[in-house]
Amino acid sequence: MIAIHSIFESISGEVGFMPQGSWCTIVRLQGCNLRCRWCDTKDSQSIEAKYMLSIDEVIDRCKNHKVLITGGEPLIQEETLKLIDRLIERHHFVQIETNGSIFLPSGYSSDCGWVVDYKGPSSGMMDRMPSFEEFIDNWIEHRVIVKLVVDNSKEDLEFVFQILSKMYGLFQFAISPLDAKGEKILDIVNFIRERDEKLLGDLIFSIQMHKVVGLL
Ligand code: SF4
Repeated sequence: MIAIHSIFESISGEVGFMPQGSWCTIVRLQGCNLRCRWCDTKDSQSIEAKYMLSIDEVIDRCKNHKVLITGGEPLIQEETLKLIDRLIERHHFVQIETNGSIFLPSGYSSDCGWVVDYKGPSSGMMDRMPSFEEFIDNWIEHRVIVKLVVDNSKEDLEFVFQILSKMYGLFQFAISPLDAKGEKILDIVNFIRERDEKLLGDLIFSIQMHKVVGLL
């Protein structure tokens, strides 16, 4: 059984393997091991689930070809990997958003796309992140976009520079300002350009579209 917060149809609001703005089924799982300061889905943090559904029941509710699994934190539930595998068997296009603090079991592989956060200083959760080396080891063999949500403070921008420098060429990085304000992107561009312009080549800039549109 899987602890579910909600299953609904909406747009994929962030950069990922499915194009931003795609209409998809969103499976929001219940329970998270982190407590980010700026979490916008606080009611999915508790492990107290509103619904417990079997994998078959979740699959029956996935009406769209494209399925985005998010949370909460999907990887705190063992059944999540089985759900991913079953959806892919049924030819769904599956993307998972995970918070970066949990590793995949060794040897696990899948055709899904992983959008993996690396939480920066403004989240208050940096001490729960693996080292850069551990992060690379865990994710390098998978289809990954690393997501950086930043509040444009000096600390967050320094962190972005550090992670890009350390992982240059290994991953694509989706970066989005916390408040979904487009002008903040220019600040990030200018900051990185002054330090090392080539690092911009690993970045995909993103505005969280669901916030702009006003959807969940
Ligand atoms: S990882 Fe996601 S769901 Fe968990 S506290 Fe942070 S923002 Fe909220």
